[in-house]
Amino acid sequence: MSQAPEILVRVDRAVKHYFRGSECVEVLHEVNLEIERGDFVGLIGPSGSGKTTLLNLIAGLDQPTSGHIFFAGNEISAMNESQLARWRTNAVGFVFQFFHLIPVLTAFENVELPLLLTNMSARRRRDHVRMVLKAVGLDHREHHRPGQLSGGEQQRVGIARALVTDPALIVADEPTGDLDSKKSKEILDLLQMLQEELHKTLLVVTHDPNVAGRTRRLLRIDSGRLIEDRCDANRPLPLRRAAPVAVSSNSAGLVDQPG
Ligand code: ADP
Ligand code: MG
Repeated sequence: MSQAPEILVRVDRAVKHYFRGSECVEVLHEVNLEIERGDFVGLIGPSGSGKTTLLNLIAGLDQPTSGHIFFAGNEISAMNESQLARWRTNAVGFVFQFFHLIPVLTAFENVELPLLLTNMSARRRRDHVRMVLKAVGLDHREHHRPGQLSGGEQQRVGIARALVTDPALIVADEPTGDLDSKKSKEILDLLQMLQEELHKTLLVVTHDPNVAGRTRRLLRIDSGRLIEDRCDANRPLPLRRAAPVAVSSNSAGLVDQPG
């Protein structure tokens, strides 16, 4: 029996203004977008075109000036700061260009950090952290600090940290921007594995043509408008959620869903 695709993210006429001094600059102009659960979506465009701004709205790091953002049918643009922070802990994993690891903490401790915001027991935290370090191929590096790891390994720690709360959506802003092409390929293989095997939904902002070539759907933004939307029809979406790598956040009693 075939399943209708489920819309995980819906952006409805999102506008974003910033003020530079007294000047108001419109950075996003009425953006409309739907992202299906389980998709691997790339977002490309020139520097300053609004990629990070749009990603931050979808990930609940920022709110639109007008318009609405929905996630699994809940309007996150109507949430207050504390509801939004709670929702983010559950729903979104973040991967950054410069990894943003804490240098004095080990790989294990860096990955454990998001779980410290939850009410999970120390023992379950340890099991989750080990599970995701294994999933990214770094179980033999858990006691290493970031400075003792290669750039590619540091980014894999970053991905494990994004994965550890078992979020539905993983967002990555230039995840290969600081890596050579061999390391980039390893990270891309890993991101694709998150989609194909763990059935995560991925939104990846990138300048890297190798990343853009690997996503299933590719969006292009220019001057705050989506100007192109391409989809690889030969790659169907995974239909069903696979057995989760990390125990589901809800069954693990992480945090309550808002609302
Ligand atoms: P991209 O990620 O595509 O390079 P951004 O989304 O970061 O672009 O930025 C889009 C535009 O918004 C740029 O002109 C940038 O200078 C401006 N901008 C981004 N964040 C802010 C901010 N906090 N205050 C003022 N202007 C901003
Ligand atoms: Mg950016």
